[in-house]
Amino acid sequence: MKPLTVGVLALQGAFSKHIAMLRSLEVQAVEVRTAEELAACDALIIPGGESTTIMKQIHFIDLLETFVLFAKQKPVFGTCAGLILMSREIIGDPMKPFNLLDIDVERNAFGRQIESFHTNILLQLPHIRPYPFPALFIRAPRILRTGAQVKVLAHLENEPVLIRQGHFLGATFHPELGTDSAIHAYFLKMIKDT
Ligand code: GLN
Repeated sequence: MKPLTVGVLALQGAFSKHIAMLRSLEVQAVEVRTAEELAACDALIIPGGESTTIMKQIHFIDLLETFVLFAKQKPVFGTCAGLILMSREIIGDPMKPFNLLDIDVERNAFGRQIESFHTNILLQLPHIRPYPFPALFIRAPRILRTGAQVKVLAHLENEPVLIRQGHFLGATFHPELGTDSAIHAYFLKMIKDT
């Protein structure tokens, strides 16, 4: 069987730690900057960074059409800025996201860079006993609304911070910046099951 190849969108932001975490799980991980590179992947991670910049770059290198077709069939995991780009609507912001996850978000909802914080969230993945997962929130968005198809996999004070809808996964924090790879392992399982 062909080994799984997971791409990480490498236009801007925190892509290298995702690559390292995927490789620690013994999966082939590649940086994606072109439509050809994307087409060779079984799934894609859109990392954190600056959502407006990542969006501009996607348009600039003409990746949008290929990405939209890719996402119709293949799993996509967005972290922080990546989740913002996958949302349905960004409240109070003119940017038009991809509408892959039926959620409305607010950018920078916890304040500026210095208000970034580390905290434990209650991770509730299927077949794993719920446990506190150390999560880093960096100028994180807040999920203000979730549609009926959205499954919440982790909360922070009753607010969703890790969600799944079909073959899409989204986190408002940075699961690649710690040492616990459970969320990436869950994404790999999603890919195998898709
Ligand atoms: N604040 C950023 C944005 O709105 C996201 C921050 C991050 O990805 N860590 O795009």
